[in-house]
Amino acid sequence: MKTIENVTIYKCDFCKKELKRKHAMVNHEKLCSCNPENFKKCTQGCLYLETEKHVLYFETNYTEDGPEYSEQEKTVFRCSKFDKLMYPWSIERKGIAEKWSTFDEQEPMPKECDSFKHHCEETFDEYYERMNSKSLDNESLET
Ligand SMILES: [Zn+2]
Repeated sequence: MKTIENVTIYKCDFCKKELKRKHAMVNHEKLCSCNPENFKKCTQGCLYLETEKHVLYFETNYTEDGPEYSEQEKTVFRCSKFDKLMYPWSIERKGIAEKWSTFDEQEPMPKECDSFKHHCEETFDEYYERMNSKSLDNESLET
């Protein structure tokens, strides 16, 4: 066994990650999900952020006729205020959302949002109304 001493290790300012290559750490810090620059308003306790099951199409193979797709049911984020599907930083940071049509119907979560409302701020009446409108949605889907 070899022990390597006096090696410079670069540690992330935001999380516990350590790397030996400086440029790799510079790159990591930029994309690190613990970096406040990358915080999204939606995931700071917003009342309107919900999850739902959604059928997504994933490009699997490329053939002469174009890509082939597979259908998969996944849990996705939805903003119930704007009725939009959202993808989190973990997807955005990989840069795959622009490349994959899977994310065409989804938007990146915003860093700031005027409609942000912390779930603790919801009154009982608002909660009651929100839950009621949700069950109405479900009924209309079934008929
Ligand atoms: Zn980090």
